[in-house]
Amino acid sequence: MKNLLIVLSGPSGVGKGTIVNRLLQDGGYSLSVSCTTRPPRVGEVDGKAYFFISKQKFAKMIEEGGFLEYNNHFENFYGTPKGFVTEQLKNSDVILEIEVDGALQVKQAYPQALLIMILPPDEAALIARLKGRATESDEKIAARVDRMRYEASKKHLYDFVVVNDDLDTAVAQIKSIIKSRKEI
Ligand code: 5GP
Repeated sequence: MKNLLIVLSGPSGVGKGTIVNRLLQDGGYSLSVSCTTRPPRVGEVDGKAYFFISKQKFAKMIEEGGFLEYNNHFENFYGTPKGFVTEQLKNSDVILEIEVDGALQVKQAYPQALLIMILPPDEAALIARLKGRATESDEKIAARVDRMRYEASKKHLYDFVVVNDDLDTAVAQIKSIIKSRKEI
């Protein structure tokens, strides 16, 4: 049975990270570690959360065809290293947790990839929560809300949409989608 490339996307705050952790706890999956030019946040470890690299190094990797996909997102570059993913795919299913534009690039390059979008049960509540974040300027919050609407507008291009109303149910749905794809 061939291993699957599983792409999970969804707006910020929808609970993707928690879902991914639950899948990883189960075993049988590895998580692709992306490269990014954004600086690490407190607690993020290089090589675990991301490979934190300079803009120059990122540009060089683009030139060398080192990315499966990449995108400029909120003024920083993010990309999936091709070699890393290819290696991991030899041993297990691989999960990419990436935004919509990158996900659609993956689907073009690799049509067998399984694209799953995770959406909130209540978009308005998620927007209200984003707006309630006192740490960000109005401009930044507006950009995030626009981005969230843009991402949700691409859901028809995904293989499946899972609504994260209840975490256990969402995880079970994702596992069942993966299982049925593997049986094909
Ligand atoms: P953050 O900076 O909050 O960690 O991530 C911002 C966004 O970048 C998230 O939507 C995340 O899914 C996306 N992202 C993370 N890694 C990659 C990647 O390798 N490629 C693309 N296209 N998006 C990514």
